[in-house]
Amino acid sequence: MIDIKGITKSFGSLQVLKGIDLHIGKGEVVSIVGPSGAGKTTLLQIIGTLDKPDSGQIIIDGTDVSRLNRKKLSEFRNQRIGFVFQFHQLLPEFTALENIMIPALIGGKSRSEAKKKAEALLDFMGLADRAKHKPNELSGGEKQRVAVARALVNDPAVILADEPSGSLDSKNKEELHQLFFSLRDKLGQTFVIVTHDENLAKITDRTIAMRDGMLETDVNAAADAATAASSSTATTDNDTD
Ligand code: ADP
Repeated sequence: MIDIKGITKSFGSLQVLKGIDLHIGKGEVVSIVGPSGAGKTTLLQIIGTLDKPDSGQIIIDGTDVSRLNRKKLSEFRNQRIGFVFQFHQLLPEFTALENIMIPALIGGKSRSEAKKKAEALLDFMGLADRAKHKPNELSGGEKQRVAVARALVNDPAVILADEPSGSLDSKNKEELHQLFFSLRDKLGQTFVIVTHDENLAKITDRTIAMRDGMLETDVNAAADAATAASSSTATTDNDTD
């Protein structure tokens, strides 16, 4: 579903991603963990086509996104990728139902189609009775579930979430995490979730650890290679002695 090859990214003189290779299969729920500044959000933004890498290739659902022009890219993002952020980012002047409908309307669905889809999603989230509430009339957990429904309205192949439960209490956290798994089981979406939450990382299908702009496995491989190189140099030195 997601194929990433050799992604690099710098901001000025700071190299934030140092050559990331990653394959994520359809229907996988993957967490990305690592210390602050490791490059997790930058990687997620690049996967989400919100930012461009300096080099490397990203194929999402069979499409090489680096080959799309700006208009096609924005259509692709709206149709194929759903985003969930730490703070719900719902529009305060619109109801829960309208907030969910907006990406569908942008994507070209008719008002009645968008409404039908948004109502079905609210129902799935157990929020049918909150349809006409505005964000400030919803609890934190409800707002975040509406944000997840909004991310799903165009049936995206991939959901990208950045600290999605970071603003929730432990009960709502747990409910949101379970929601991701039931969506994957029911709708087959692929989830990539940046998180500091160890409880979430523990239950995902795979945890990818990042450090200093690299995947931890690559950091370890590089360290092993360096150790091997220095010991083989040492051996060579001994041989010549
Ligand atoms: P993480 O999500 O692992 O905390 P980020 O991807 O947010 O890491 O950031 C990695 C590094 O890149 C940090 O040092 C951060 O300050 C820097 N960075 C991120 N975005 C920008 C930007 N738009 N401009 C300049 N520096 C940035």
